[in-house]
Amino acid sequence: MRNLVLGLGTVAAAAAAIALYQRRRRSPPTLDAEFIATTIDALVFDCDGVIYKHTAAILGVPEALAKLRAAGKRLFFVTNAASASRESLAKKLAKMGISGVTAADCITSASAAAQYLQTNHPDVKRAYVVGGGGLIEELKLCGIESVGEADTGGIEQLLSSGGLEASLPIDAIVCGMQVEGLCYARLAKAAAYARDRKRPFVGTNPDNAWPAGCTELLPAGGCNVKYVEYASERTPDAIVGKPSKDLALLVQKLHKLDPKRTMMIGDRCNTDVAFGRSVGWWTLLVLTGCHQLSDVKRAASHELPDFVAESVVSMVS
Ligand SMILES: [Mg+2]
Repeated sequence: MRNLVLGLGTVAAAAAAIALYQRRRRSPPTLDAEFIATTIDALVFDCDGVIYKHTAAILGVPEALAKLRAAGKRLFFVTNAASASRESLAKKLAKMGISGVTAADCITSASAAAQYLQTNHPDVKRAYVVGGGGLIEELKLCGIESVGEADTGGIEQLLSSGGLEASLPIDAIVCGMQVEGLCYARLAKAAAYARDRKRPFVGTNPDNAWPAGCTELLPAGGCNVKYVEYASERTPDAIVGKPSKDLALLVQKLHKLDPKRTMMIGDRCNTDVAFGRSVGWWTLLVLTGCHQLSDVKRAASHELPDFVAESVVSMVS
């Protein structure tokens, strides 16, 4: 398969090259920095595998973001990492030397889950949560108490605690990424609560894996959603993170984005690229995270990126 390297000076030339590769299933056109300079106002970045890997910034990315900001581009950050709150994500980026990012520029699947419940199920006051601190923080900001942190053991602890009978009334179940303290008791209780279909069941994101900064991809939040889904014999009422079109529309409305001058940058075709394409944004796959050109070959048509680039650094050089 030949990778087309094109000098894309105009939107029409870019659109023609993209249509050609998608029709013939070649590799996506390589991004030309001039295209960003002339055609794009707003950049929506995925984070893990794009901006950083776990806690370390990807080489050259903070400097590239500073250049894009200096050129007048608006920068937003959307992550499916359910353990992050908007506030904690902004702080994490600042710690990596990425300045000027506020919580208002960030959306996490945790904040999306809390907002979903607040909007669609305003009666929910207490949720059983499989997830971390950021999710609990965002639910609290929406007036929803989280339950589940005390469930830290296995079958013996579950039985000796009295199971569900000993717990507080639960209005909803929210499942996402949990790195610390994930255990049988917690997953079993989440599934038991989810069996009652009167309770809303929300998944934060569908990701099966994430680039944790080691050589292997590690299980991500979507695995916990699937666990509870399988055990409870019930699909979630909503999976609110990328590639949800509702979330993309929310971001677009919130920040008054012009879809024709907005680009989504991600490292996954099935979440990031599909997310951007769902509302007609330009899309760029960077090869610093999960998906490579071989994954583009296997991607469904609505997951094919418009462009590919080695890294975010390519957007300014
Ligand atoms: Mg990613």
